[in-house]
Amino acid sequence: MLPLVRLCHALGDALRPALNIAAWPELGRWPRQCAHCAALFRPARPGLAGDDLTVPQHLCPDCCTALLPGTPRCRRCALPGSGRACCQPGEFPWHLALAGADHEAPWAQWVWAIKFSHSSASLRALGPLVDAMEQAVQRSPHHDAATWPDALLPAPQSPARWRERGHSQSLLLARMLGRRLQRPVLTQEVLRRSVAGASAAHQIGLTRRERWDNMQQGFTAVSLQAQRLIQGRHIALIDDVMTTGATAAAASQHLLAAGAASVQVWVATRTPAPQ
Ligand SMILES: [Zn+2]
Ligand SMILES: [Zn+2]
Repeated sequence: MLPLVRLCHALGDALRPALNIAAWPELGRWPRQCAHCAALFRPARPGLAGDDLTVPQHLCPDCCTALLPGTPRCRRCALPGSGRACCQPGEFPWHLALAGADHEAPWAQWVWAIKFSHSSASLRALGPLVDAMEQAVQRSPHHDAATWPDALLPAPQSPARWRERGHSQSLLLARMLGRRLQRPVLTQEVLRRSVAGASAAHQIGLTRRERWDNMQQGFTAVSLQAQRLIQGRHIALIDDVMTTGATAAAASQHLLAAGAASVQVWVATRTPAPQ
């Protein structure tokens, strides 16, 4: 049964661009396989034409309930809690932080897959991560029309990381989320990660203090051309994981200094608070 379903999906995906399947909503609701438990389910919403990345749901209803319970989070640090702010005003430079899920199984494995995998495993992991981000955005009680982001900006990674991985995980997330929320994605280079010294080193394994110090010089200034893209606009910075918030804080400070009206940080996963 499952190989047959996979074959149908492959055929459907190949034919979507030619057939404009968005005009046939029921066909877009063919049964799909849950990214977590592998059960077959029918997505709540039809897919859009021509691009499997826009199919809106990658987790079955049971896994959605179990893995995405909608835990309230602090609007500043995105850690789970009562929903009240748990940290001091001014500790982070952004207006609002949202996280799709905690950085633990299975979410941590999916983040690892989009970060380091060069295979179809990367694309399979992308769907549930964006499911979680979309749900966090839709459920957040902190949005208001005045600061609803004008555009999504993928968190930049250093040229060395881009060469090493061959893709940018934050760009993959931003593109898929942008289509779902119908927000434009700034794919032009707005912020550039520094290539010099320790700032380009892996953040993995560093202490909180080391990460903050490491990121102080981690970005080059926003170019005049890029300033025009962000001046007076509300920007949502998109990244795969927030650990201390150091990278997002450094990027936010550059965007605000360059004239962004406000910055929100939307991440797929948030690491738990240190014990
Ligand atoms: Zn499932
Ligand atoms: Zn907090």
